[in-house]
Amino acid sequence: AGAPAGSVTRTTCAYCGVGCGILARRGPDGTPTVAGDPDHPANFGRLCAKGAALAETLSLDDRLLEPRIAGRPAGWDEALDLVARRFSETIAEHGPDAVAFYVSGQLLTEDYYVANKLMKGFVGSANIDTNSRLCMASAVAGHKRAFGTDTVPGTYEDFELADLVVLVGSNLAWCHPVLHQRLMAAKAARPEMTVVVVDPRRTATTDAADVHLAIRPGSDVALFAGLLAFLAETGAVDRGFVEGHTAGFREALTAARAVGLAGAAAATGIAEAELARFYALVARTARTVTAFSMGVNQAEDGTDRVNAILNVHLATGRIGRPGATAFSITGQPNAMGGREVGGLANQLAAHGEFDDPEDRARLARFWGTDRLAERPGPKAVDLFRAVEDGRIRALLIMATNPAVSMPDADRVKAAIAACPFVVVADVTAETDTADGADVLLPALGWGEKDGTVTNSERRISRQRAFLPAPGAARPDWWILAEIGRRMGFPGFDWDGPAAIFREHAALTEALNAGRRDLRLGGLADLDRAGYDGLEPVRWPVPAGTREGADRMFADGRAFTPDRRFRFVPTVPIPRRAEPGLVLATGRVRDHWHTMTRTGKSARLSQHIAEPYCEIHPRDAALRAIPAAGLVEIATEYGSAVVRALVTPRVPAGSVFVPMHWTGRSSSRGRIDAVVAPRVDPVSGQPALKATVADVRAF
Ligand code: SF4
Repeated sequence: AGAPAGSVTRTTCAYCGVGCGILARRGPDGTPTVAGDPDHPANFGRLCAKGAALAETLSLDDRLLEPRIAGRPAGWDEALDLVARRFSETIAEHGPDAVAFYVSGQLLTEDYYVANKLMKGFVGSANIDTNSRLCMASAVAGHKRAFGTDTVPGTYEDFELADLVVLVGSNLAWCHPVLHQRLMAAKAARPEMTVVVVDPRRTATTDAADVHLAIRPGSDVALFAGLLAFLAETGAVDRGFVEGHTAGFREALTAARAVGLAGAAAATGIAEAELARFYALVARTARTVTAFSMGVNQAEDGTDRVNAILNVHLATGRIGRPGATAFSITGQPNAMGGREVGGLANQLAAHGEFDDPEDRARLARFWGTDRLAERPGPKAVDLFRAVEDGRIRALLIMATNPAVSMPDADRVKAAIAACPFVVVADVTAETDTADGADVLLPALGWGEKDGTVTNSERRISRQRAFLPAPGAARPDWWILAEIGRRMGFPGFDWDGPAAIFREHAALTEALNAGRRDLRLGGLADLDRAGYDGLEPVRWPVPAGTREGADRMFADGRAFTPDRRFRFVPTVPIPRRAEPGLVLATGRVRDHWHTMTRTGKSARLSQHIAEPYCEIHPRDAALRAIPAAGLVEIATEYGSAVVRALVTPRVPAGSVFVPMHWTGRSSSRGRIDAVVAPRVDPVSGQPALKATVADVRAF
């Protein structure tokens, strides 16, 4: 029935990685309203436009409310039996790598845990990847290279304590608005704080900054390599930290010196004097936070960009100290929770590694399985290639719309349509991905489902249900557990998300006992009431306490075998003369992903009502593109038609198009159909900001 009329439920926002706490009230007639939770440590009562409009997005208009098989309504038993049978038959005939899951940073940690356990633990394949691959895989890979694990060192409070905040490839004001509000409030209280934004585009974030370094697209590695060389030349390296706690400094410095100030200026297009001023500011400011997001991660050298940033923080010992840290800002509400339970194809649960026999043995013992996957599976782009060429013959897609959001989306859509057996679990059937499904399974949405999410600062918060389950919709964890059970696997019989969370927390202990401080043992004995009342707590939570961690690495010890941090030599990719304009995709302030939810709020659509292409006046003039005229953006992969926004806010030679519009409406703004499927070779993250496109008047 949901929470009673007049009640208030504490929950967490459905959208970005800031992870704001929300108070959901049900009025006397049951009508919900939302407000920021003043006691939640992510937002202290603040909400952005998207969060504040959540109550406007709860209609059941387009909801999928019953299972469907080949378009006809079906009961749960029939649908789940069919899914389990087809997956089992495919495995029996073609092996475990012939089936796959593609999941989502929208899932709750408990959902993710069950999906990962089923695929890696019992199917015996690592064919599970997630749309988080598109969001932060380069940060994960960079963290692992530098720290030995994927661990975000800092906290949101560090943004407020810093004297210098450098935002790289982040339109924080639009994409993580409440964190930006916190930063701006801290700056208002301490005007001497300096905010520098590194971004080729002018954005709402650069407008609010003290310094905007409008580097050439793709020159991030050169910028930070030049900075490392400058720090060494000006005596700003923390020799004690480097010698006592790190390895590989000499090699990284040699690579950085090959770039130097002059090389960095040439690559970034920033004058040497201006660059030197920025470098000197970093050199003299001990309390520096460098925060990075999609502009860093979504690149062919995304992992190197991350490590170029981390190198600078390791050289200065500014890691995990108050107001002094590098910080990855994740896009999705639970990208971090997915990372904890092994949601990526190349990770095991609880930060276990495929190439560590001890991790694999401990995990197999804990789950009681002799079928544990032995090697990493394909990352998102490769996973859909395997669907296309028939290696994957049964596919379950959960809480995401890859036929729109993957690069080269038409090809992905065709691969899904041609796959012999496709199951889509979602809140709606109105998606391009659902069009290709043999079986549709109705999932609970925000406000109906119950579990945990982990935000960008490692804080675990409860998402709590306050609405009744509509129709026959069920939680994602339940759908996955039922499939596992019907496939004959043991260990899929939880009675609710609290039991799954306990198992997840216990696994972190079993896998990391005595080795890594990556555990949640303090939460492994939460009973139902304890889980229901769980206050936001920052991961890890060691056994014997309910207190979470503050900063990571404050003791100067990494999680590498010798406990030393690793420098990584980074070499800039040479600049290419491009035959067209470089297309970057991204978000707008008031929409989310493919607008399944935000599209329901008229208020949110008022901000920006249609897709557009930011294009520099020079490029528009060269192509006779009038202001507000239509432009076609074409590549070998596809084309899209959107309205031109002629503006010097985007640099000449580049265009920017938002990612949200799906093409199911009358517009042809489905931009990921145009985007090249090139990836970072280390992280597998698609380079969503670097497609060379032909742009012309339409
Ligand atoms: Fe939700 Fe992010 Fe806005 Fe907070 S900043 S209200 S988490 S969308």
